[in-house]
Amino acid sequence: MNLTPRRQINGAPERVLTLGCDPLVLPPNTTSQTFKNYALEAAKIVGSANVTVISDEAELSQESYLEPSKAHDMFNIADKTYFVCSAVVAPRGVGEVQELMKLANEFEIPVWPFSIGRNVGYGGAAPRVPGSVGLDMGRHMNRVLKVDVEGAYALVEPGVTFFDLHDHLVKNNLRDQVWIDVPDLGGGSVIGNTIERGVGYTPYGDHWMMHCGLEVVLPSGELVRTGMGALPNPKADTSKPIHEQEPNESWQLFNYGFGPYNDGIFSQGSVGIVVKMGIWLMKATGYQSYLITLPKDSDLHQAVEIIRPLRVNMVLQNVPTLRHILLDAAVMGHRTDYSKSDKPLTDDELNAIASKLDLGRWNFYGALYGPEPVRDVMWQAVKSAFSAIPGAKFFFPEDQPNNIVLQTRQNTLQGIPSVTELNWVDWLPHGGHLFFSPIAPVTGDDAEAQYNMTRQLSEKYGFDFIGTFVVGMREMHHIVCIVYDRKDAESRRRAHKMMKEMIEEAAAKGYGEYRTHLAMMDQIAATYSFNNNANMKLNEIIKNALDPKGILAPGKNGVWPKNYRAADWQVPIA
Ligand code: ADP
Repeated sequence: MNLTPRRQINGAPERVLTLGCDPLVLPPNTTSQTFKNYALEAAKIVGSANVTVISDEAELSQESYLEPSKAHDMFNIADKTYFVCSAVVAPRGVGEVQELMKLANEFEIPVWPFSIGRNVGYGGAAPRVPGSVGLDMGRHMNRVLKVDVEGAYALVEPGVTFFDLHDHLVKNNLRDQVWIDVPDLGGGSVIGNTIERGVGYTPYGDHWMMHCGLEVVLPSGELVRTGMGALPNPKADTSKPIHEQEPNESWQLFNYGFGPYNDGIFSQGSVGIVVKMGIWLMKATGYQSYLITLPKDSDLHQAVEIIRPLRVNMVLQNVPTLRHILLDAAVMGHRTDYSKSDKPLTDDELNAIASKLDLGRWNFYGALYGPEPVRDVMWQAVKSAFSAIPGAKFFFPEDQPNNIVLQTRQNTLQGIPSVTELNWVDWLPHGGHLFFSPIAPVTGDDAEAQYNMTRQLSEKYGFDFIGTFVVGMREMHHIVCIVYDRKDAESRRRAHKMMKEMIEEAAAKGYGEYRTHLAMMDQIAATYSFNNNANMKLNEIIKNALDPKGILAPGKNGVWPKNYRAADWQVPIA
């Protein structure tokens, strides 16, 4: 049978597609004929317009955040044709997701779910195992199912982005009652970002901490509601399909329900596809953002010592950031604006950039929340603590109208999404990026140790250090933004090697990363090795019990099902 629907892929010109063609990369252990049979069966479930076989390299030309590729890692670090799907299949509802899992088991073809597939710096929409079938969860399943203003929560489907949820509040005149929390870039999905444990910058910045209740399709196709969702709603209409039945009214109010708390295995996991998720919203309140500039590179130590007691006491109410000068410079310009040399920028050059931009070598962005008298008291406490640093300067957004970063943070820290921060990727031509993201205790010594190590390694490999400390409740996510020229194989190779060395050196010092790109998952998983890898053994037991055929996201975060050998899937340095 030759199915030739006309449809657009990735915004590329409309053209004829053939389900019966071979993909660029077949799923593992799958013949061409088996794959074609699978594609036809998948089309019976989701409709042929929702099955796209990735059959030629032209389909890998999509490289824009605003129109992201659904088929490959558009900010590639490995060869561009390495992390690619064989096909992209877009279910139209939960029932179809369940059927697709059964089909994947029948054909023993691995699937890789994603919600929007932006996930820049971590692999985009691409699967860990080349040739897996991408499940585009967000194309059709993109409703805001509920916003409860009194309970201050939302219930969303995978395709709801931060922009969508924010727009929903605005359109329904709810923004003066509840706010969302947003990460730096608003185009990602609430579900994808949250289950990957992404962060934002309001008091609700730890997204995973603020989720409440999941609906999940297991690898077997079975549907589970976690927490209070496991308790049936006596008023539910049981004549409806199970996933449409009204949930328990406390589902989004209390995370834990009764018995073992299973949500964790679905976060950075490979044992379920999240099809609905509750997320807590913040009550709208009085607000004032600010910037504190710190003049010297060596101010890092003292600043972090000041931050710790303020943060743990919640005088610092939000997730503030201590940003290196080059992160702000990269949002506001290109490297060529500052240097003609290809050598990493020197301290003198960094000082010159800071003074040109009227910024410090480190720049602390935070916000105050609550009624004005409360904010005033908090501000006095913050200001007097930071005044201990000679030369510290204090700004509100109106003091620096041309500071794009401050103006953007003014929005981000009150949950208004944007994409401005993406600018820093263009620090180099054809910029792509990786994140090296170790967790640091909130101490001056740890901040300095991580900064020194990552800056030295950046310079050893010929890159500028660009980074930020994102301050959680009791730790910092130290986010090092490794920007490379993705059209230049040599630049990619250096970045890849550098990241591997950073991971190794960090682990030797007791530092581990919270999240990573597909290419580094195995290496980082191996560093979490306490007691002869007991944690990984537990992960594998759970994986093999719930997914005996290894069809759901094999290799994700270093967890390989029993029918795969990790050694066979090492990622070549391009
Ligand atoms: P973003 O929302 O930033 O575009 P993605 O949609 O690419 O991010 O999701 C990032 C990663 O999170 C995916 O590669 C996948 O591993 C996981 N993921 C995303 N959505 C789901 C989902 N609905 N169920 C299970 N895993 C998911």
